[in-house]
Amino acid sequence: MNSLTWVLLAVAIGTVSCIGSVVLVIRARDATDKSRWFWLGLAAIIYGSGVWATHFVAMIAEAPPMRMGYALGPTVLSVLLVIFGAFPAFVLVLTPSPTRLRRMGAGLILGVSVAAMHLTGMAAMRFAGTLAYRPEYLVLAVGLGMVLSALAWRRLADFPAVSAVGEAGLLLVLGIAAIHFIAMAGTRYVPGPMAASGAILIGRNATLASAAASAIAIGLSLIVGLFDQRWRQVRLEAARLRQLADCTIEGLLIHAEGVILWANGVLCDMLDMDLASLTGRDVATLAHPHDLPMIRRHVLADSGSLDEIAMVGANGRALSAEIASRRIRYEGRPAGVIALRDTTDRRRSAARIEHLAFHDTLTGLANRARFDDALAAMIEAATVAQPLSLLLIDLDRFKAVNDLHGHLIGDQLLQHVASRLRRLMREDDLVARMGGDEFAILCPKASVEAATRLADRVIETLSARFEVDGQVLTIGASVGLAMAPLNARDAATLMQAADLALGRAKREGRDRFCFFEPGMDIRFRERRAIEQDLRSAIEADALDVHYQPVVDCATREIVGYEALVRWSHATRGPISPVDFIPIAEEAGLILALGKLVLEHAAAAACRWPAHISLAVNLSPRQFHDPNLGDDIIAIIQRVGLPAERLELEVTESVLIDDSSRALDILKQLKAHGIRIALDDFGTGYSSLGTLRQFPFDKLKIDRSFVQSLGIDHDATSMVHAILAMGTSLRLTVTAEGVETELQFETLCASGCDLVQGFLLGRPAPSPEVNGGSPVPEGDGAAPGLARHRRVGLV
Ligand code: C2E
Ligand code: CA
Ligand code: CA
Repeated sequence: MNSLTWVLLAVAIGTVSCIGSVVLVIRARDATDKSRWFWLGLAAIIYGSGVWATHFVAMIAEAPPMRMGYALGPTVLSVLLVIFGAFPAFVLVLTPSPTRLRRMGAGLILGVSVAAMHLTGMAAMRFAGTLAYRPEYLVLAVGLGMVLSALAWRRLADFPAVSAVGEAGLLLVLGIAAIHFIAMAGTRYVPGPMAASGAILIGRNATLASAAASAIAIGLSLIVGLFDQRWRQVRLEAARLRQLADCTIEGLLIHAEGVILWANGVLCDMLDMDLASLTGRDVATLAHPHDLPMIRRHVLADSGSLDEIAMVGANGRALSAEIASRRIRYEGRPAGVIALRDTTDRRRSAARIEHLAFHDTLTGLANRARFDDALAAMIEAATVAQPLSLLLIDLDRFKAVNDLHGHLIGDQLLQHVASRLRRLMREDDLVARMGGDEFAILCPKASVEAATRLADRVIETLSARFEVDGQVLTIGASVGLAMAPLNARDAATLMQAADLALGRAKREGRDRFCFFEPGMDIRFRERRAIEQDLRSAIEADALDVHYQPVVDCATREIVGYEALVRWSHATRGPISPVDFIPIAEEAGLILALGKLVLEHAAAAACRWPAHISLAVNLSPRQFHDPNLGDDIIAIIQRVGLPAERLELEVTESVLIDDSSRALDILKQLKAHGIRIALDDFGTGYSSLGTLRQFPFDKLKIDRSFVQSLGIDHDATSMVHAILAMGTSLRLTVTAEGVETELQFETLCASGCDLVQGFLLGRPAPSPEVNGGSPVPEGDGAAPGLARHRRVGLV
């Protein structure tokens, strides 16, 4: 080999090592972990050994013409110098785009260390003679080397572009070459004696061998670096793909024949499992057992459909998800990808919304909407053998509790009621709050007996006392019971039937249940029709008032009249107040009716002699109106009837239903000078107690006692007792329903003050309407009385 070949070989080794070290510096720069120091070290070693190999191979061409060798120590030192010099230089450029200062720093260090290596390597030479350097060459060599080595890092930001790598490598190798060849150009061998040296000498062949070894090392390192670079790209690609897969909202998995090959992070999080525990697992194990067929469908075929699936996560946690699947090729083999979107939360909130939509917020019972749904479904399933029972429950006296104790207690009471009802239910039954204090129970497959028993138990359990917030409360319940298909085949009819039965139960005195009876609905419709007609009649002022005389036992003269309302229906004829007053009460018409009667009667009474009094009946319902007292006073003032001439007849129930307000109104009226009579006395159940509650002016003995007078011993005693009581309490006592002379005589003899009845006069239009005669002829009045009556009124 001639000298040029060695020089070219040296430059080639240098070029390869420089490019290699640049690649490794970039590799180190891009590494984020500790591996960057490994790559950096490798870069320094490759650069260092490259420089060293270049130097020694080039020296083969430029060695002195005499026999020579190298001292081992300085030779090793020379390679170490450049390796340890390159390391900090590379550290300086270890940023994506190093500043000029850093680049210059790196160039400076590299120039110095390459020069140091060169001089040390030269100093290691052992030959007969010495070396003479020309300093200006050395300075030029090092200066140029530094500049070129600094320029090498100029395009670091463009890496790993091949041109940038090539340029950097080339500049580095030029730097090395500049230092070596310029320095050598200024170096002369001065023959002389062999320098004394105890060091081991290595010869030319050993130099070659080590240069070749370093070239191979450089090549291997380069291959490692390049492979690593490729591998790193693959890894980066994979990481990027994984990141992408994790950016999705869906959990994704890839499987081959149902065996999971890979899953994304979303799926791992969703199932609370790690990738290692998912891979290799059968996809089917992720599904709830009852959704196995569905997941199998998604595993086997390109189902294309979007389904809802129940899943099982770590520790058996239940999840729900939307599932979609597709066939793909994965790593060259047929596989499937399954996408799962977690819908558990959505489901949960949907369930919560559903709960709110179908449950009563106060009691947690089903609400009306839920009840309607259940009723529709249950009535569909009801058969004669397995009938459906519907119980409508209305709490009695709940309003009073609410008024007296406040809504807070009222609400708590409703909650207690709900929990008591819940305890009575079987599994299939449904109990709902229909609103206010109304509840309903649906019992599918319950016989008539079972339904009846349940109704009894409902009343019993709700009549038992409640303890709410330290208060002992007693309410009760009325229950209407209807059954399908016995009473109805559709929901609306069944509801109506139970409602009719409930209305009946309430009318019959509450705390009881009523079974729907055929005909109830007809009567109900009739009642509604009558209600409508009554409303029209009141609006049209088409009601009449008749007057029944009240006679003084002592003088046998008429002292007053009781006003009794009359209604003659256009098609049904006269309807008794016994029938239409309750309808007016229920339909809320009683206030208007009461005013109408009072206006008519008071106007009529004004035309009577001044000593004749007027009695007007008041319904307990009228006392629900807090303005009742004011209204009555206003009416008689407007008409001009003195308060002393008016007497109001009330029954005991006034004081039972809502005693405090009624008492206030009664006191107000009495204070105004209006007298108050207790009507139908003896029929109630707390007569004596009632008498203590309010200072009535008058008692009216119910006609049922009068009519049994002399026939029924107990009734007779009762009349005597009432009369005696009236005397001792200084109350005027009127006996109603006197039909015979015997009754009349007996009553008068027993100390009764006033009498009233067909014997003395039937109710009739206002006396003066009848041509001034107070009592119409032919009313069956005893002849002996006619004189007194006439006397009394003319
Ligand atoms: P009441 O207040 O006890 O009225 C007396 C009822 O007994 C009247 O029936 C009267 O016609 C009837 N009567 C009178 N004498 C005899 C008799 O000798 N024998 C028999 N068997 N009955 C007699 P009426 O008019 O059918 O009224 C029935 C009930 O309707 C009244 O009972 C009263 O509670 C209610 N009522 C009538 N008019 C009004 C009214 O304007 N307002 C209110 N709130 N209730 C009224
Ligand atoms: Ca009366
Ligand atoms: Ca009466």
